[in-house]
Amino acid sequence: MTTEASIIVIGAGIVGTATARALQRAGHPVTLLDSAEPGRATSYGNAGFIAIDHVLPLARPSTLKRLPQMLMDRNGPLTVHPPSIPHLLPWMARFARAAYSRAEVRKGTDSFGPLMAEANVAWKAEIQASGLGELFKTRGALYVYESELSFAAGAEERELQRAKGTDFEIVDGNRARELAPGLSSHIVRGVYYSHGMHTINPYRVVTTLAERFVADGGTVMRARVRGFTRSGNQVTSVRLTDSELPAKAVVIAAGRASGELTRLLGFNAPLVAERGYHVMLAPDNVRFDMPVSPAERGFFITPMEDGLRVAGTVELAAPHQPPSWHRADLLIRHLKDIFPGVGGAELSRWIGERPSLPDFRPAIGRAPRLANVYCGYGHQHVGLTLATATGRLIARQMEGEELPTALAACDPGRFG
Ligand SMILES: Cc1cc2nc3c(=O)[nH]c(=O)nc-3n(C[C@H](O)[C@H](O)[C@H](O)COP(=O)(O)OP(=O)(O)OC[C@H]3O[C@@H](n4cnc5c(N)ncnc54)[C@H](O)[C@@H]3O)c2cc1C
Repeated sequence: MTTEASIIVIGAGIVGTATARALQRAGHPVTLLDSAEPGRATSYGNAGFIAIDHVLPLARPSTLKRLPQMLMDRNGPLTVHPPSIPHLLPWMARFARAAYSRAEVRKGTDSFGPLMAEANVAWKAEIQASGLGELFKTRGALYVYESELSFAAGAEERELQRAKGTDFEIVDGNRARELAPGLSSHIVRGVYYSHGMHTINPYRVVTTLAERFVADGGTVMRARVRGFTRSGNQVTSVRLTDSELPAKAVVIAAGRASGELTRLLGFNAPLVAERGYHVMLAPDNVRFDMPVSPAERGFFITPMEDGLRVAGTVELAAPHQPPSWHRADLLIRHLKDIFPGVGGAELSRWIGERPSLPDFRPAIGRAPRLANVYCGYGHQHVGLTLATATGRLIARQMEGEELPTALAACDPGRFG
């Protein structure tokens, strides 16, 4: 008797795990492979926010204008790890081209619409199907502003959100302090998304999905993928360190490392690590229950089940560089400015690598020139948000369905 080869999903972060679930639900035998335990990489420590309000790609002219400052200020919300600059230059050049091009920015906004709409539906369905209810809360989300100028800088995004029907309320400083008691008196404005949803433990979301996947007959395997065996335009097996696994199809969902795998298959995924940090603090004096983000400082403050998480900022870096822990210290200083007296002793600190493509659109869908390889990587700041949507879209494409036209902008083949 021969057993049917599985679909092999490479990478058990939130994107791979959610994709494995979606494929399993579509009736496929699925093996989820990771060189580490599920959920231990970038998906471990994010801010937990389901950011369906995120509708503008980060590759846009206003981000580009901040580049010179970004290169000089090691304490700013966006910075560069100096020894990584030679490695980053080609990516930065591509980023500048995408950010300057109206057509590329347009592709970003046009694709984020259907992606976020799918994300909204997909998370609700997955929470139900996988019994994740205790890990999610719908308590809203609050962006806060320290000057009228920084509030005005968000006008373009708010206009787009309004056009797409996103529900939000602009509030003054006093109302912001009512919504999030403890906020500093210098906050002048807030934007409140009353439907905002967050998880109180992103790591447990991945492990619970992986447990449900196994309970429903899926296989989780600990192994590093080293290569692929091909026959024509098909991948027939995945090569591991000391064995080979037959494959019916393959999904590359290896986060920042995905480019190392796509190179073996003859196409490019120019990903860099947009490193972010988090610090967990004892939840002293926390009297709010939703993610709060001081927009111009580029981070989130999220009450989680095991403490207060202060997470974010961006440090572009080459892979495998030592952490810049002063960026985590910076997060604590930011917290003291925004919520004086909130948060107790430091419990832990963490660094993660957002997998970011230069046009800040994810790669979702069938790989170029290969009939049975699919991609789900490059989710940058919104990988948690888009994970379940990515899984559903890949599962549908495998069934022969066309992806929405706007998602041609997320074609994995666009980098050659
Ligand atoms: C500070 C911070 C805050 C964030 N906040 C949010 C937020 O609030 N909301 C949101 O939506 N997103 C947020 N993000 C982004 C989000 O965390 C990422 O986009 C997401 O975790 C990426 O998931 P992934 O599954 O693609 O990658 P990962 O979680 O990195 O998983 C990739 C997996 O692939 C495995 N792998 C790699 N190579 C191989 C190989 N050759 N063989 C086998 N396995 C391999 C790795 O071991 C790893 O487990 C944040 C990120 C950071 C850093």
